[in-house]
Amino acid sequence: MTLDQKKTKSIQKEMITACIQLADLGFLAGIGGNLAVRVDETYMVVTPSASDYYTMKPEDLCVLRIDTLQMVEGTKQPTTESGIHASFFKKRPDINVSLHTHQPLASAITLLGKDLILSEKETKERLGDRLVMVSYAPSGTSFLVRAFQSKITDKTNGYLLKNHGIVCGAKDLKSAIRSVSLIEKEASEFLRKSIQNHPNPNRLSARVIKQINTIFLSARHT
Ligand SMILES: [Zn+2]
Repeated sequence: MTLDQKKTKSIQKEMITACIQLADLGFLAGIGGNLAVRVDETYMVVTPSASDYYTMKPEDLCVLRIDTLQMVEGTKQPTTESGIHASFFKKRPDINVSLHTHQPLASAITLLGKDLILSEKETKERLGDRLVMVSYAPSGTSFLVRAFQSKITDKTNGYLLKNHGIVCGAKDLKSAIRSVSLIEKEASEFLRKSIQNHPNPNRLSARVIKQINTIFLSARHT
């Protein structure tokens, strides 16, 4: 199948806008986190490895084959998590956007090593009833791709990579950004409640809650 150049160019432009929005939200901390958008059943566009999202240009984005990860367009190294995005697209034909973030509060939740049960109506409608925990494997390795692959299900669009970050699937970019914002809100609520319900709350608890509020409110949530 030949690459649809017009569609690819328009996806690349939209991805630049989305990356700036996500960086403003604090969800692509530094040069961490990455994004993939499906062009069709054969190709996807991914962000380059270790790039500054504020200076990235549409032509810096890489076009890869979903089945082999072979790069067909681009001059930079594609993100090291391309395998994660490709496996998501392969297993979920309904997903067009795969977003990996290092958003602060939800990434903190990944240290707990268990699924996060979701509580808000809109979050559940978009993501399912839980964020599924994926066991730890080093970033950018085939071990992590395999661990992620084994957990992909139709029932959830959100995954917690243990000790690392989030993977979120959506139909389009706007929806993906909304979903990761809702994930951060759920994570902040979960952390607040866990501290408040601790059998021995102390002065430190209040300080931690204040810190959670500061982190959550510092992002310009949509
Ligand atoms: Zn990462």
